[in-house]
Amino acid sequence: MQDVADELVAWLFARVELPVQPPVDLSQLAEKMAINDILDAAMAEDGRLELRDRRAVIYVRADLSRERRRFTIAHELAHRLLMHRTAPAVAYRRRLTGDNLERLCDDIAAAILLPRQWVEKEFIRAPQGLDTVRRMGTAAGASLSASLVRLREVHRWSHSLLRFNHVTDRWRLAAPAGVPPDLHRSLRTTPETNTTLAAIGRRSREDVVAALPLRLGLRSWVFPAELSVRVTIAIALVDLTRPRPPEEESDLLTGSLLVAGVKCNCATFGLQT
Ligand SMILES: [Zn+2]
Repeated sequence: MQDVADELVAWLFARVELPVQPPVDLSQLAEKMAINDILDAAMAEDGRLELRDRRAVIYVRADLSRERRRFTIAHELAHRLLMHRTAPAVAYRRRLTGDNLERLCDDIAAAILLPRQWVEKEFIRAPQGLDTVRRMGTAAGASLSASLVRLREVHRWSHSLLRFNHVTDRWRLAAPAGVPPDLHRSLRTTPETNTTLAAIGRRSREDVVAALPLRLGLRSWVFPAELSVRVTIAIALVDLTRPRPPEEESDLLTGSLLVAGVKCNCATFGLQT
């Protein structure tokens, strides 16, 4: 549905006469879309659009990170856009209910924060690495996950972004982004994932190119990855389309040269996913 979302957002930006230049000013966009207010609230869900007494108000859960807050506002603006009488959404709107509607609103939110035109132009020659994902997220006020998904859609990156949390002495897979749906349920950490992340964490706070062990279904593999390991959070840009049998990597994993390549990246490091 991303092409539908891109088409709708291109129509929206032209209609409200806003430049397609991240970071998109969401307050200004909301105002132009006749949203009367954006208010923080204590609530269970991330966001809500309320239309009452000729007023339109977006409520956002008060404790969200900056990036998630922006994505939530953009998602509620998507609901607003789909209500517009003359938006090119009319044809789709009738067919959309439940999860499909929510998915389209997520796609529209990503297209608002990371407009296709901008992603195409600015990142066409960008190297496929964590640095590029961070640069895009920082420039657009979007999360690393949303940025990676956009790079997959627009520039056909094959990578996924995995986030691991260190909980009770173990690295646990927390938030995968850009993982193909057929792999989603079958992706697991193994004891070797833990060993690898722990070893990198001890040796470096910089981005590290390494082979990352993971289980896919019933088999263990290693995948080419770029990793950033901090005290309690690790992120990995992984190419899940290129699994290799673990034995091929034994020298790399057990030798003192675990790190196959290191890039210094301290100044721009950001872990918001
Ligand atoms: Zn929604």
